[in-house]
Amino acid sequence: MFELCLEKNKSFIQKTKKLENFIPVNRPILKGNEKKYVNECIESGWISSEGSFVKRFEEKFATYVERRFGIAVCNGSVALDVAINALGIKEGDEVIMPTFTIISCAAALVRAGAIPVLVDSDPITWNMNVEQIEKNITEKTKAIMVVHIYGLPVDLDPILNLAKKHKLKIIEDAAQMHGQNYKSKKCGSFGDVSTFSFYPNKHITTGEGGMVLTDDENLSEKCRSLRNLCFKKEKRFVHDELGFNFRMTNIQAALGLAQLEQIDRFIDVKREMGKFYTKNLKENLNIDLPLESTNYAQNIYWVYGIVLNQQFKFDAENIMQKLNVKGIGTRPFFWCMHEQPVFKKLGFFKNQKFPIAENLARRGFYIPSGLGLKRTEMERVCSVLKEVLR
Ligand SMILES: *Cc1c(COP(=O)(O)O)cnc(C)c1O
Repeated sequence: MFELCLEKNKSFIQKTKKLENFIPVNRPILKGNEKKYVNECIESGWISSEGSFVKRFEEKFATYVERRFGIAVCNGSVALDVAINALGIKEGDEVIMPTFTIISCAAALVRAGAIPVLVDSDPITWNMNVEQIEKNITEKTKAIMVVHIYGLPVDLDPILNLAKKHKLKIIEDAAQMHGQNYKSKKCGSFGDVSTFSFYPNKHITTGEGGMVLTDDENLSEKCRSLRNLCFKKEKRFVHDELGFNFRMTNIQAALGLAQLEQIDRFIDVKREMGKFYTKNLKENLNIDLPLESTNYAQNIYWVYGIVLNQQFKFDAENIMQKLNVKGIGTRPFFWCMHEQPVFKKLGFFKNQKFPIAENLARRGFYIPSGLGLKRTEMERVCSVLKEVLR
């Protein structure tokens, strides 16, 4: 499981093998009913998406997020493709989104032929700068893609007002926000369509997996159809539209259901971790830490990010290397969308600059923050980090 989580970065695995007591950046907890439910899949033979766990997981998760419909898919990236296609976003449409996020958000738009229009980050919350949205609205704008970053939600009220005023749709990427609230309502309950991921570093995991959520019955049916190749209801193997096979397996959903049973405890564990790190690191003058709370939410610490101050002479890459040698796993922050070679090649974002996000990308990284992290490990992370930053 340890290695599974590091799969996304092979070079880290090679280095980590040298150190016995290496602290990985993430280790999930799979100690509830996971084994029991997965065994049920195997013993009953129901391993495809047709099994009953898929429906149960969809219903339970939708209820948890206070939504009417949940459509399970095979990961959080394709959940965005489904959301965008279901909303009818197409060639030439503009969608406003943060530059500081994972590529999945912009990639899904570009695949649909749409144009991502970027805004910078807020230096304190690291979320999209809400004030930059309105001036980017044109007659081509169809939607705003809200992406909650690292543990604090985006300030949603001003965005919801803008969407109403300009008749725009909201796509809410809540892949880092399972269990988080904006004011007193669940994150993932705000988008016309909202999406989640269940990758092993998320608050609950299905190994690979995702979900699309909505309250609109028509949209939910479109999502279901898009997920399953757009088979015609009346006649199988006849298709009026192009869909995808983005189905989730029963085994994944079995894991998800077992994980969901534990989510409240997982959130507590994350908040405890965040509090511990902040208490132990806040005296260090060289770094900015995640904000503990705003007037609309308390940080859930999906990951515990650190940003090196301007006056600090090294960048994140340098510090991450030093930590790695000392047995502490880290990950860099996102790399901005306007600086992605693939989008440059496609002619997007020419000469665009977003200084706050560029700084976060260069000077930010996150330290071990998984659910399986032990107190003694957190203590070692803090002491090694202080030593390296001195
Ligand atoms: C993890 C994540 C995704 C992608 O999810 P996968 O399941 O890895 O495809 C999308 N958006 C955000 C904000 C994420 O954190």
